[in-house]
Amino acid sequence: MAPAEPLPEFEPYKVKVVEAIPTPTRAEREAALERAGYNLFNLRSSEVTIDLLTDSGTGAMSDRQWAGLMLGDESYAGSRNFERFEHTIRELTGFPHILPTHQGRAAENLLFSALARPGTVVPNNMHFDTTQAHVTRNGARPVNLAIPEAYDPESEHPFKGNMDVRALDALLRSEGRAKVPLVMMTITNNTGGGQPVSVANLRAVARVCRRYRVPLYLDMCRWAENAYLVREREPGQRHRPIAAIGREFFDRADGATMSAKKDGLVNIGGFLATRDPRLAERLKEMLILYEGFPTYGGLARRDLEAVAIGLIEATDPAYLAHRIGQVRELGRRLEARKVPFLRPVGGHGIYLDVRRFLPHLPTSELPGQALVVELYREGGVRTVEVGSIMFGEGTPEGREPLELVRLAIPRRVYTSSHLAYVAEVVARVYERRASIRGMTMTHRPERLPHFTARFAPKRAPRRARQ
Ligand SMILES: *Cc1c(COP(=O)(O)O)cnc(C)c1O
Repeated sequence: MAPAEPLPEFEPYKVKVVEAIPTPTRAEREAALERAGYNLFNLRSSEVTIDLLTDSGTGAMSDRQWAGLMLGDESYAGSRNFERFEHTIRELTGFPHILPTHQGRAAENLLFSALARPGTVVPNNMHFDTTQAHVTRNGARPVNLAIPEAYDPESEHPFKGNMDVRALDALLRSEGRAKVPLVMMTITNNTGGGQPVSVANLRAVARVCRRYRVPLYLDMCRWAENAYLVREREPGQRHRPIAAIGREFFDRADGATMSAKKDGLVNIGGFLATRDPRLAERLKEMLILYEGFPTYGGLARRDLEAVAIGLIEATDPAYLAHRIGQVRELGRRLEARKVPFLRPVGGHGIYLDVRRFLPHLPTSELPGQALVVELYREGGVRTVEVGSIMFGEGTPEGREPLELVRLAIPRRVYTSSHLAYVAEVVARVYERRASIRGMTMTHRPERLPHFTARFAPKRAPRRARQ
């Protein structure tokens, strides 16, 4: 007998609560753009049809997480929920000291305020926006050391999150231990397209760090997605559980910052973890000052319960297969319409390749922002520029940043038909790309400009009337 066709795939959950999706008219979208200063961070959610601005804190919690909220023990000190939170993270990561924070950047604030000093250098495979801002705010210099393939949107390298180990070695040799307070590895590399770091690369980076006695920290926001991609792509990893692959990374690091709004599957929360008891003591004093007592750290205790449950759910292979499968499904649909995007498809979103999408617009005309605006104008899809606006007109090494527009897929929120809609919107904008005009920035804030900048469309060049 011929083998039967496999049955169709489907979302591995059913709907328990629904939220209506706004469908503003074209005229309403046009008015909203104008009011927002053409910055989509200024839109009201009621003006957005499909919201792919970020996958951070925008996911749907499970019934078990919602049930966990009802177990909130809102004691100021020594809450049961903190015990479960701390136990879960210790079991997953092996890090002994766990400091809860309200989100990832609060953990970054603690870590970089304690370790970064003027005149020091912080290497990362690729800095994320808030990470870079915390490094520079403390007077240190961020350096991106991703492998060269990471800067080529068309390269199919399976681990474009990897660090250039030789460049790291050279930097540590020339700067010396005293000038480099820590090395960071972002898994997955968000700025570079949600691209994974391999176990082999992390091991090599850790060896170099040990040799120079510089601590290695992970930005572990998407550690489970990274582990899933490692399992698929790295020889010898195929049969290992997600948690075991994650542990390979944690075992070689000295600590980590985490935004639980990603692979913690919650709407708010984060933590900082370290092996260093003296640093933990110092950080706890700051934690109390800025966030809260060390058994809640800026969160309701019930939130800690939801994080503890979410971190485990994020390691479920069926969940991850669907999550990353959704991102790939959107990629396949765009590919069928010849839309250029960063290859290979990463863990949490599709990153449109702006230089190939709008080749007629130079960087000075803010092509990423122009594209973000058109995607909203066409179908109410909200996305974000990850390029020269977010990261300035060059990386610290003088390299031109990637020019991307990110379509981040929230976890467990949208279905296949929503993605089909998004692909159609993007494809229609692509078909009329030649007529898209550039933008100018009318207000430029000093730090993290993309959040609050304002823009205006460039006027059409004046043509002689016939
Ligand atoms: C989201 C994110 C952060 C910051 O976390 P928040 O919870 O948004 O403060 C840091 N690093 C990376 C890679 C991220 O994606």
